[in-house]
Amino acid sequence: MSDEREFLRLTADLAADFVDSLAERPVRPEASVEEMRRALGGPLQEQPRDPREVIDELSRATEPGLAAMGSGRYFGFVIGGAVPAALAADMLTSAWDQNAALALPTPAAAVVEEVVGGWLAELLGIPGSASFALVTGCQMAHATCLAAARHHVLAQVGHDVERAGLAGAPPIRVVAGAKRHGTLDRALRLLGIGTDAVREVPVDDQGRMLTRALHEELRGDRNGPTIVCAQAGEVNTGAFDDLETAADATRDAGGWLHVDGAFGLWAAASPTLRHLIAGAERADSWATDAHKWLNVPFDCGVAFCAHPEPHRAAMGIRSDYLLHAEPEAGRDPVDWNPEHSRRARGFTVYAALRSLGRSGVTELVDRCCAHARRFALELGDLPGCEILNDVVLNQVLFRFEDDEKTNAVLTRVQAGGEAWMGGTMWDGRAAIRVSVTNWRTTSADIDRTIAAFERALADLAG
Ligand SMILES: *Cc1c(COP(=O)(O)O)cnc(C)c1O
Repeated sequence: MSDEREFLRLTADLAADFVDSLAERPVRPEASVEEMRRALGGPLQEQPRDPREVIDELSRATEPGLAAMGSGRYFGFVIGGAVPAALAADMLTSAWDQNAALALPTPAAAVVEEVVGGWLAELLGIPGSASFALVTGCQMAHATCLAAARHHVLAQVGHDVERAGLAGAPPIRVVAGAKRHGTLDRALRLLGIGTDAVREVPVDDQGRMLTRALHEELRGDRNGPTIVCAQAGEVNTGAFDDLETAADATRDAGGWLHVDGAFGLWAAASPTLRHLIAGAERADSWATDAHKWLNVPFDCGVAFCAHPEPHRAAMGIRSDYLLHAEPEAGRDPVDWNPEHSRRARGFTVYAALRSLGRSGVTELVDRCCAHARRFALELGDLPGCEILNDVVLNQVLFRFEDDEKTNAVLTRVQAGGEAWMGGTMWDGRAAIRVSVTNWRTTSADIDRTIAAFERALADLAG
């Protein structure tokens, strides 16, 4: 290739073209999986090709199969977005291409992680003495935290799980709500604890653990290793378990309290929402995401552990060929993470936090929640629409007269391309879920989305 610099400039232009297109391109992907297979598949050719051609073709061929997940009118799943500083930092992270496992070979990547670990703990109301890890997402944050929990509750009964594995260990009891996130179960599978270990606590109509049932499960029972998993932000309703009760009950049972706060933990950054997570600061571990509400590009999750020793015991690694820092000389990310070679995830988080500042994070969280409340008010006025959740945070869950109508309305809105959100089943009935987590979302985006629902309803009526 003639000029690598020119090539990277052109590539940055392609990236900017896509970001520009978010404002007006259809939010849904226009091409199907089958069409993408036809456009991108086929056998790998024998000979090398010019990188410029490759990137040109790649961007043109993928274009119709991309969703505008970064659009202000993408309300599916809990997706977040990318604030400009974080997106730019992500591009630089690729160019810098640091393997952020160890501090001495890349002091910049390691120190940026140290710094954001402290900033995040402070924003999220987590004790400053907590250890942390930047991981791929909340899924691996669960795996990291629950590995520390597994170490701790088994060490209490004299079992060294890192050496002996689970063979010969007493069973671990995991107490969690019926509406826990599926990634918790997968973390238990990965850790060899297994999903049969879950003692499921029944939940109310918002998905919150019933506090009496939680107390009953744990009361006076100090025999046996116990991990309690509470939730801050149910993925459909945004509801919070009563974390003071969870902390009390866990303490009485001598257990470990883990909090799934993938997006809900960010309520701590807002003085008006902070009350929702009262008690969270008493937990033993916390899992959250930066790629959701902090609006850094995929992927970045964060694990926090109130007890650095079990965290280190579960994750630490030593190899003769690695260049480990002495504790005072730097924090080696590899000792706190499940990954070995790893992307330098700290740079995007650093850029997002620097550009937003503390007040910007608060304002982002508050603004998304205000949009969600407005959604609920205006959707609730549509004929036949029923809002199913208390809109305490950024999630709105609703349905129309019956499952058929609900699905028909949703399919029409999705196909229209003006906005995108997903469906779910809530207590056996079809429902539509809206999640507001993107910094780009404006009042005009809410107007346009409500109008799309009005059109869908009119089309179905006529
Ligand atoms: C998104 C989510 C997860 C999983 O997070 P990933 O980043 O997708 O791994 C876990 N719990 C809750 C409540 C979530 O919303």
